[in-house]
Amino acid sequence: MGIHTAYIGAGSNIGNKLLNCKKGIAALTRPKKTVLKDCSRFYQTEPVDYNDQDWFVNSVVKIETHLDPFHLLDELKSIERDTGRVYDPIRFGPRILDLDILLYDDWVQNSSRLVIPHPRMHKRRFVLQPICDIDPKIVHPVLKKDMQYLLDILDENEQRVIEYPCDY
Ligand code: ADP
Ligand code: MG
Repeated sequence: MGIHTAYIGAGSNIGNKLLNCKKGIAALTRPKKTVLKDCSRFYQTEPVDYNDQDWFVNSVVKIETHLDPFHLLDELKSIERDTGRVYDPIRFGPRILDLDILLYDDWVQNSSRLVIPHPRMHKRRFVLQPICDIDPKIVHPVLKKDMQYLLDILDENEQRVIEYPCDY
């Protein structure tokens, strides 16, 4: 299968949000030969899409893995369940832990179960800000623009993102 680089977005807005994200990130190394290569800072972020809910904590990590994208997705869902995520009555609503595949090498995939690059990543400050901590030069494989560019063109009055006050 070979080794692949993926960027995973972690988010939580229920309970101990920072701890939920950290637990989820730590669990990413559960599958054999999956290693954590880099972590962004953590951010407190204003909810988007569905506003009547608490702020989130978000971060992005870079991993290397032998898992193919579908097995990686299964793994993320199982980690979400283990962290206590049950069911979501509201799309984009509150969740204990959300783990999304943002990028997987330069792979482009559009199936009902899995869309890569993540279809909303380029519009979300809570993804672009942390991914730029890791590497602002990563190029979006569909839009052919780097992460810093995509961050810079967002409306600066929308989607507040504040660095989490902790020395992680
Ligand atoms: P959200 O879109 O807010 O992250 P969920 O976490 O509930 O919502 O995910 C809903 C579904 O999105 C998942 O069941 C999964 O099959 C699908 N999905 C499609 N593309 C991706 C991706 N790149 N990463 C994670 N889930 C994805
Ligand atoms: Mg998700």
